[in-house]
Amino acid sequence: MQRSIAIRFGTLYPGAGAPRTRGVLLIDAGRIAAIGDAGAAIPDDALVLEAPCVVPGLINAHVHLEMSGEADTMGIFVLTTPVQRAFACADNARKTLEAGVTTVRDVGGTEKLAIELHDAIVAKKAIGPKIVAAGHAIMMTGGHGFFVGREADGADDVRKAVREQRKDGAGCIKFIATGGVLTKGAVPGTSQLSENELRAGIDEAHRHGLKTAAHAIGADGIKNALRAGIDSIEHGHLIDDEGIALLVGGDAALVPTLAAVDRIVEAGADAGMPAFVIEKARSIARVATENLVRARAAGARFVAGSDAGTPFNRHEDFAHELELMHRWLGMSATEVVAAATTGAAALLDVDRGSIAPGAVADVVLLSADVAPDCRAFRDPLAVIKEGVLAFQRQPPFLER
Ligand SMILES: [Zn+2]
Repeated sequence: MQRSIAIRFGTLYPGAGAPRTRGVLLIDAGRIAAIGDAGAAIPDDALVLEAPCVVPGLINAHVHLEMSGEADTMGIFVLTTPVQRAFACADNARKTLEAGVTTVRDVGGTEKLAIELHDAIVAKKAIGPKIVAAGHAIMMTGGHGFFVGREADGADDVRKAVREQRKDGAGCIKFIATGGVLTKGAVPGTSQLSENELRAGIDEAHRHGLKTAAHAIGADGIKNALRAGIDSIEHGHLIDDEGIALLVGGDAALVPTLAAVDRIVEAGADAGMPAFVIEKARSIARVATENLVRARAAGARFVAGSDAGTPFNRHEDFAHELELMHRWLGMSATEVVAAATTGAAALLDVDRGSIAPGAVADVVLLSADVAPDCRAFRDPLAVIKEGVLAFQRQPPFLER
């Protein structure tokens, strides 16, 4: 029998809306049982924990579990075997969970590794977050990330590529709508899959209940994806006013992956990255924040996703993305929590991301309130996934 857990908290962020202060959170049989005030009764057999701050299990809506932050992304797919990448995948999943991230969306890899790892975690043969995996990203021939994706040309072929990912067990579908930073020769501002191709692929995905994401940096590709009915724009860094109007007028979310650009620019030329990567990241960084702030001011819905796995952008470092959303985009702690919990859960279509009676008990215990300092997301005291204490920082808590 799974033991019930009681957490005495200083501040609790429920996922959406205002935090509440000083109380007791009760978890039983994998679910949130109750949120009481500080004097609430605690069952005799409960494991009792204490934390200054409690948030829902975090959701990283943009990761690549096969990649571990290597300097040369294209190179690792040549220099490593699928078996080695499977181990990397499992290692990154464990680190992800220990960092307080209880759900991820893996938006593209080589074999079906993230899909298989999802199954292994459900079967308790591996440790990690809940995984919603895209399988192969779908791109035009020679498109961004072709070395890890399914190349498809024309509406019918894109439709077939979606069917292949679904057959493999994908939980979402990822399209490449523009060039990107990490592929040699790909120009981030140039559109790739056409609006017509995207529309066919998105239609096919939606017919099977699969949500869709588009890698889209350039303004034209962003608009192609939005007009075609995409559920989320990934990156979105060169979005223009017309794109912002389409985004705000529809249901799509924007996943800004600020950490991906920041880590490349910060590491700089001596860190072993190909020169083309640094040059492209720098040119995007110069304008991205301004564009994204404009989108936010216009009312765009932001969801947190870090592009973990890209150069120097590690899976255990999702907190950095949340700090950048606060610092660069001006989001409050409550808004950042929502972007990384309830907002992301809606995009991924998962029953996670909130602390409310009856909800699946994914909960992170932090050593300080995330307002005013979002650095408090770093190094959680403990992580609870599906009502089970999955990780606790040493030394352990005092148990009663
Ligand atoms: Zn990515």
